[in-house]
Amino acid sequence: MAWKDDDTRLRSAAFAQVQRLQQVYDNRIPWQEISAGFDLGDGRRRPLATQAQGIYKPKGHPAALSIKTVQPRQGRTNPYSDTLAPDGCSLLYAYQARGGPDHSSNRSLRFAMEHQLPLIYFFGLEPGIYAAVLPMYVVGDDRTRQQFELVPGMVLASHETPTHTHHLLDSPPDRRYGAQLVLARLHQQSFRHSVLSAYQHHCAMCSIHFDEFLDAAHIVPDSDPLGVPDVRNGLALCGLHHRAFDRFLIDIDDDYRIELSPELLRRRDGPVFEQAFLERHRQPLWLPRDTRLRPAAKYLQARRRSRPPELWRS
Ligand SMILES: [Zn+2]
Repeated sequence: MAWKDDDTRLRSAAFAQVQRLQQVYDNRIPWQEISAGFDLGDGRRRPLATQAQGIYKPKGHPAALSIKTVQPRQGRTNPYSDTLAPDGCSLLYAYQARGGPDHSSNRSLRFAMEHQLPLIYFFGLEPGIYAAVLPMYVVGDDRTRQQFELVPGMVLASHETPTHTHHLLDSPPDRRYGAQLVLARLHQQSFRHSVLSAYQHHCAMCSIHFDEFLDAAHIVPDSDPLGVPDVRNGLALCGLHHRAFDRFLIDIDDDYRIELSPELLRRRDGPVFEQAFLERHRQPLWLPRDTRLRPAAKYLQARRRSRPPELWRS
């Protein structure tokens, strides 16, 4: 297998470069770096992915090296739930449509599946910024639905080599759980990016402007079927306001004004409490400039219905 040695060299160099980029950019990798790629030691740089296609197969190699998702529109979350398998443990990736199932891109991914070659998965967090997941393995090829199935490979212990194409599907629950965690983390990272950028990195309640203090809070919790990772179900909140919001001590009315629960209004504490809470009662929220990214009434109303009555009795 003459291709095998070249492929191993190519994949090791590419993986090393992506791991370096993950570290440097805290896994928020700018497209320019992905495009600038890596050096195989022959002085010639090869990209880690290309703009034109989702599946990237380096020239002269039979197997795909990376796949990438579409870029999300500004302030929108990636249509991630569409690509997540119902059990949350694997990703579904549509065939390169033009050229049919046997298009060279699709063939290169199928080749990676048959030989169990690890891939790099670039997930678009926001325009021009990608998170990388590696290694990723192709474990299924559904010609009817025209899609591949992929799983993050860190669920395999290092001494194990995947021997057949559905290793995850009949593996112990902790492995499936591991895969689910990797994908859920990606999901949260994407939600955080969309929400923070919509609010221009300000807490919606006190306008504090340091990312280190900011969270992407869900209006309707993600444990609720309505709690989708939609930016309109999100709020950028600092740690203090996030905690109060999650505990239902504070809420938002339909006119986007801050509402303190009667329970919180009754409390007294020092100047920090005064300023962070009491003075904010009925004050307008700091909102995204783009009105389409502001909290949706359906989420605010659903949240209001689930407030614990004992905190909201005046
Ligand atoms: Zn705040």
